[in-house]
Amino acid sequence: MSPEDVAGAAELLAAAPDVTLLAHVNPDADALGSALALGRALRSRGARVRVSFGHPEEVPSSLRMLDADGLIVPAAEVPAAPPLLVACDAGSLQRLGGLADRVPATIAAGGAVLIIDHHVANPRFGTHHLIDDEAEATVVLVLRLLDELGVPLDLPIARCLYAGLVTDSGRFRRARPATHLMAARLLEAGVEPDELTRSLMDTHPFAWLPMLSVVLRQAALEPGAAQGLGLVHAVVRLEHSGPVRSEELDSVIDIVRTTAEAEVAVVLKEISPDRWSVSLRADRRIDVGDAASRCGGGGHRLAAGFTADGTAEQVLTSVREALAVAPSL
Ligand code: MN
Repeated sequence: MSPEDVAGAAELLAAAPDVTLLAHVNPDADALGSALALGRALRSRGARVRVSFGHPEEVPSSLRMLDADGLIVPAAEVPAAPPLLVACDAGSLQRLGGLADRVPATIAAGGAVLIIDHHVANPRFGTHHLIDDEAEATVVLVLRLLDELGVPLDLPIARCLYAGLVTDSGRFRRARPATHLMAARLLEAGVEPDELTRSLMDTHPFAWLPMLSVVLRQAALEPGAAQGLGLVHAVVRLEHSGPVRSEELDSVIDIVRTTAEAEVAVVLKEISPDRWSVSLRADRRIDVGDAASRCGGGGHRLAAGFTADGTAEQVLTSVREALAVAPSL
């Protein structure tokens, strides 16, 4: 990413009277925090702003507090071809889900599409791009834009940016000096890190506990898999997730991956009968982004995912095969 990219994106946004910002499907704190922080900043400059995402219909409850201005609208209310579309943290067009059709429609109507993202191998599917695959989070790129636009960091914007930074950096485990310098600016703007992190990452409904007990009891360790580095996997079937919302299931992988004997952790989440959302994590020695892309998905070197059909055992077989040939790091 060059300084010209930042200046070009800022110029595009500064002149826009109407901006539609999209997060990827099943939005996380980085995607939604990026869209909401930039949305609030542009609204303060007088633009008409809406924020949305393709799926699910409701805002994940842990992220609701980030929308201080009520900018989020249902996907159905996103215009067919808005004049300026901004996609945040979407590594590919497909990651926009049901709103992906807005991208070609906007371009065909002569509008602009700005892609702000940090995923490896983003196919640059817009008309303008602010992409840096070395950035810890998309919110890092959003802050560079806000600085370029001269927008001051108020508390609601800082909370959105901190939410993306603390989650995508793995609670600052994957941090560089610059990550902490950014965090320092956000704390100076008033962010309460303990309160924000607790509601984002450490709060679950009670039903999460019985779900965990069933899922973790059936977790399995395969020491010889993943090129002998070890694979641990767990399967969350529809009947186990019960009243636990999909977003609550995303943290299962964070528990499974603590297994000492396995370099790679995989969690299969059943999203409809025999359809699976698969998450992969590696500690540091194997490229699970490569493995995920062999299975039709993608992501980062140490955190990736894909969607697949079949039985859980069939999906695990393709994961084992992909891990057997994934590059080591
Ligand atoms: Mn991200």
